[in-house]
Amino acid sequence: MAIRLRQVGLDDFVVLERADDLGGTWRDNQYPGCAVDVQSHLYSYSFAPNPDWSHVYSPQPEIWAYIRRTAEAHGVLPRVRFGHEVTDATWDDDAQRWLVTTAAGRVEARFLVSGMGPLSNPIPPRIPGLDTFAGPCFHSARWEHEHDLRGKRIGVIGTGSSAAQFVPEVQKVAGHLTVFQRSPGWTIPRMNRRITRVEHALFRRFPVLQRLARGRQFLYRESLAFGWLKDGRSNWLGAVLKLRLRAQVKDPELRAKLTPDYHPGCKRMIVSDDFAPALARPNVALVTDAVSSITPGGVVTADGTEHPLDVLILATGFEIMPVADPLRGRDGVPLTEHWGAHRSAYLGTAVAGYPNYFMLGGPNTATGHTSALLYVEAHVEYVIQAVRAVLARGGGSAEVRADVDAAYRQEMAERLRRTVWVSGGCTSWYLDATGGSSALWPGYTFEFRRRLRTFDPGDYVMRGAGDRETVAAA
Ligand code: NAP
Repeated sequence: MAIRLRQVGLDDFVVLERADDLGGTWRDNQYPGCAVDVQSHLYSYSFAPNPDWSHVYSPQPEIWAYIRRTAEAHGVLPRVRFGHEVTDATWDDDAQRWLVTTAAGRVEARFLVSGMGPLSNPIPPRIPGLDTFAGPCFHSARWEHEHDLRGKRIGVIGTGSSAAQFVPEVQKVAGHLTVFQRSPGWTIPRMNRRITRVEHALFRRFPVLQRLARGRQFLYRESLAFGWLKDGRSNWLGAVLKLRLRAQVKDPELRAKLTPDYHPGCKRMIVSDDFAPALARPNVALVTDAVSSITPGGVVTADGTEHPLDVLILATGFEIMPVADPLRGRDGVPLTEHWGAHRSAYLGTAVAGYPNYFMLGGPNTATGHTSALLYVEAHVEYVIQAVRAVLARGGGSAEVRADVDAAYRQEMAERLRRTVWVSGGCTSWYLDATGGSSALWPGYTFEFRRRLRTFDPGDYVMRGAGDRETVAAA
């Protein structure tokens, strides 16, 4: 967003960042084995191709370095105010301004764009006794590298995408590893490999080759969406994945534990070639009895067994979309309260009652299949058009019409009902308390991008500067 604002000459902005460095999820997640699970050429900014990705799925340190390098190259670092956690943001309807309070001072702005990430705050599980554990205990997204794991008895709670990446690494050094699984995930092949020096040279010399690689990866990923968008379509994949599991894990009892009872795609697919084989190693136990409590010495499961541990790692996921909490709109209502159990935003970016506020990666823009950056970049271009449309009217505000917002919410709910995520027979972070999904986009990426290509002022109540009555009347 910052780079594009500079490029198009909308140069009067600041970026508020709570941490002391850039990088978001790629700064915070530093667990062993952390890497992107969408191919790197696709998981890159479209305007900053990187011919030097080391792997098809490159590791976290490279991605973090790429983000910092790109920010630096485009001169936006001086605009970032680190240590500025936003604690409140209130729309002043008279001044048509956002009044933003941060941990380090106040900011006034005509427009507020949030890019807080839908999975930025880790959640520890609510398990009795968690705080009594005597040894090191940390969340996968807050890895404590100072602890030597060699030879230790290590416990991991959770078997989602994060655990699938670090368990094979931890297994190599652990004395004994106990993995506590509540429900298994379907795992699809990753087939990661080093990108060769010849390929690097070719990508540098002929950038079109890299664009072609990106295009191929895009199409492969879109083909996955075909299976998820209508429940039932991807069921055949279950049989194939079971065969793969059979080849990876010889023990039928372990295989049974690792076989999901819901449709493939329902939970986010785990992209891994080494997770199941790591669980089959002699120093690993996969425990499927529910975790009932934690003691200073280990984890107690529902069958009464205490599993003794030296280190406990929580791979239990994140609070979903903590984006709205400090935000109050035209009527002073916090956005979380406005939303209730189901979060929604027109085109995943604008909410009626919250003028001049846009989200990057807001509700219903997560994908189960492709690069989130494709969605964020579509938002960025849309926001730029919105800002320009307001400025072209001499300033003021744009607020999505309540009927447009409501119709979109309805459309999302209806389309999502047909998808594997909502109807595939599982629970996951994709679902909200209503049983619907506030998280996922129920279509192909190209449809999303097409719908965001043009900002239509007709969808919005457009107010000029000092024009106070229009919204009240609308
Ligand atoms: P997650 O997918 O939400 O998985 C959390 C895991 O913890 C699940 O297995 C869950 O079981 C388990 N769990 C939660 N509370 C528990 C409890 N009280 N007792 C036992 N088990 C419990 O979290 P994640 O693995 O961190 O991944 C989150 C998302 O981040 C992914 O879906 C993906 O979108 C993204 N991600 C991306 C990458 C990448 O690109 N490289 C890597 C990692 C993560 P249930 O399944 O039964 O709920």
